[in-house]
Amino acid sequence: MPVIRQLDDSAVNRIAAGEVVERPASAVKELVENALDAGATRIEVTIADGGKSLIRVTDDGHGIPADQLALALSRHATSKIDGSDLLNIHSFGFRGEALPSLAAVGRLLITTRARGAAEAAMIRSYGGRTDPVRPAALTRGTVVDLRDLFHATPARLKFLRVDRSETLAVSDTVKRLAMAAPWCGFVLRDTTGGGEGRVLFRADPETGDLFDALRARLTCVLGRDFTDNALRIDAERDQHRLTGFAALPTWSRGTAVAQFLFVNGRPVRDKLFVGALRAAYADVLSRDRHPAAALFLDLPPTLVDVNVHPAKSEVRFRDPGTARGLIITALRHALAGAGHRASSTVADATLGAFRLEPAGSARIYQMDRPSQGALTQAYQAQAPQTPGFADLGAAFSGRVEPTDDAALDHPLGAARAQLHENYIIAQTRTGMIIVDQHAAHERLVYERLKAQMADRGVASQALLIPEIVTLSDSDAQRLLDVADDLARLGLVLEPFGPGALAVRETPAALGVVDAGALLRDIVDELADDGQTRSVQARLDAILSRMSCHGSIRSGRRMQAAEMNALLREMEATPLSGQCNHGRPTYVELRLIDIEKLFGRRT
Ligand code: ADP
Ligand code: MG
Repeated sequence: MPVIRQLDDSAVNRIAAGEVVERPASAVKELVENALDAGATRIEVTIADGGKSLIRVTDDGHGIPADQLALALSRHATSKIDGSDLLNIHSFGFRGEALPSLAAVGRLLITTRARGAAEAAMIRSYGGRTDPVRPAALTRGTVVDLRDLFHATPARLKFLRVDRSETLAVSDTVKRLAMAAPWCGFVLRDTTGGGEGRVLFRADPETGDLFDALRARLTCVLGRDFTDNALRIDAERDQHRLTGFAALPTWSRGTAVAQFLFVNGRPVRDKLFVGALRAAYADVLSRDRHPAAALFLDLPPTLVDVNVHPAKSEVRFRDPGTARGLIITALRHALAGAGHRASSTVADATLGAFRLEPAGSARIYQMDRPSQGALTQAYQAQAPQTPGFADLGAAFSGRVEPTDDAALDHPLGAARAQLHENYIIAQTRTGMIIVDQHAAHERLVYERLKAQMADRGVASQALLIPEIVTLSDSDAQRLLDVADDLARLGLVLEPFGPGALAVRETPAALGVVDAGALLRDIVDELADDGQTRSVQARLDAILSRMSCHGSIRSGRRMQAAEMNALLREMEATPLSGQCNHGRPTYVELRLIDIEKLFGRRT
């Protein structure tokens, strides 16, 4: 018979430590959270060798009284809750597990001076043995020094990745917490190899109101590019408040790397959030692009359980529907409000493409006589082949329209020319706009179709002679299965023998369409879909596909009035800054940037 025995403290601590401290980054997380809980306004993190040989976290918080230092190192000892209400938690920590766990897996030294105390104290603990508390020198706050992580558990050490990866994970952790606490300053330093070390990240304490501080901090962590292209989010519903910034669809990413959610200030990874983001952007991003956002959801602590994960990186909502609904509605609202605004990165990229020589860098060489001669000769030989104005005209099919002074005041300006039969050049008061007419029109048609659908179904036009489209049996059947839905979208079909369909009506907004191409596209959309999405999402996706067919194709010449009408409609249409796939529909070049290109400005 196996006997049941009580494990000793050291074994219990090592087991608990395995859950709490997986890798250096998790130790850093626990220590920085402790510093934040202590009300720190400045936190410095120092690591060496990916955190394996050294992790040190210094803060200016309220410190630990000397007579409680030993207690802080025992398991389940915490100053943050009294244990009577586990559902009402306002701090990062509450389980009293981090310090004893860290002492179980590394050499821990805590030096601290409690606010108002005459002197500082220190305590050392390693491998289950804790030395008595001793006096120490420190002016304020707490320094936790953790060395030789997992040194006593070589098996775990083996699971760690190369130092570079561990350093990266530490840096991610610090940045995430820095986003959660914009009023606190952070420094992350790597002292591998000794000396002062290298500063990997620095964020000074931010000032101003919530949004000012947050914008500044996100700029520091994610880059100015993010904040320049992000929409401010501020919405509330049923005691849930959502604040933060979400990027324009044109600033999307190839992976989900820039999605941050903080629930009551705590960074969490939550499937609910990923799904809600996807749903909010479904209309403006293709499925292989990922939106970027940093959002803060605040709700009464009793409505969210943070005690469901050892590292507290997951939470459970009492009412997940409200949280999800709030995220989706708030983001959709903000995106619609952004109207025709597209990402500024697009224009920056355009300007970057000119790749300017820095002013004054041109070098002048004196040519020798033979080269001069060769040059003149070559030029004369080439001359007859250089295109004349007539040839240039063919490539450059623009007609310059007269300026309409009043139209210059519109955000997208007055149409001045159409180039390459697809690009509208418009002049504004402060610069110029280049519109991709095909992408823009596609978006407008889509929004028009959606508006009709929300109202009383998409208006259709009957074809004089039904168009017969031949497909495979299974594709035809797939379309017939959803014939009722398609009829609401203005597309009326009937079976017409094996594998064939008769198209009787098409959506009026599309104009004259190639019914065969349209049906094949819808079949693709249905096949892609795998039936996982809601009916509404599926119909939207089909509408989006349909609108490609109704768009003004590139290659169509437009008159000034028609171009201006397109610009005005873009201004009035939600989400018109990007096409249905998240590509921009226009770019703006500001005069000051153009002047920089020509060295008129530096
Ligand atoms: P928890 O954070 O869950 O309370 P910890 O083991 O992380 O558990 O810390 C135990 C206690 O030690 C905390 O409740 C707090 O009182 C004290 N403490 C830890 N780190 C700090 C710090 N940096 N500044 C002030 N007090 C601290
Ligand atoms: Mg803690």
